[in-house]
Amino acid sequence: MNLEQLGQTCSTCTTCKLAPTRQNVVFGEGNSDARLMLIGEGPGQEEDRTSRPFVGQAGQLLEQILGAVGITRSEVYIGNVVKCRPPNNRNPEPDEIASCDHWLLEQIQCIRPQIIITLGNVPTQWALNTSLGITKTRGTWAEFTKLSHPIPLLPMFHPAYLLRNAIRTVGGPKWLTWQDIKAVKATLEALPEKTNAPLEIKQTKLF
Ligand code: SF4
Repeated sequence: MNLEQLGQTCSTCTTCKLAPTRQNVVFGEGNSDARLMLIGEGPGQEEDRTSRPFVGQAGQLLEQILGAVGITRSEVYIGNVVKCRPPNNRNPEPDEIASCDHWLLEQIQCIRPQIIITLGNVPTQWALNTSLGITKTRGTWAEFTKLSHPIPLLPMFHPAYLLRNAIRTVGGPKWLTWQDIKAVKATLEALPEKTNAPLEIKQTKLF
């Protein structure tokens, strides 16, 4: 299945208990051949309404963060761990993630990004099979190993967290995010061109 077919199939998914309260499935969007993929936790109210990931203030800030190092939204791919909005913007629950994460794994398999950024606790814990919080994991390069070839992964703060902690101080969340996105840009520039080597899914188990 290619990415478009995957999105069409996902758009009618009713596998978990998030389906009855959603307005739209938010599959993800962006460059299907992206070198860089960003993963958030799940859709919020505006995303649910528009069927697009990372819209609204957090989305605008994410675009600014990428733009600060010359990366445009159109050249990356943005998705979430769960594709339907959890009620009242709560975190997705383990059974919901377990039901949904095969869509994300198949997305990553189709896109074959060279670098993955996880934004906040939920995607980082899912991607790295860890219970550590984002303040412990952010800024440290890791590997995404749920597919047949490891993919370099950098956890970063979620833009919504940065909106709540907007003070610009050296060592603060915004400053740390600036260090992180510069590291991503430098690593992208140092990597060779993408190859067409296929990726196989190794692991679908949660945690
Ligand atoms: S959250 Fe995922 S598994 Fe649950 S209904 Fe939506 S697409 Fe299906």
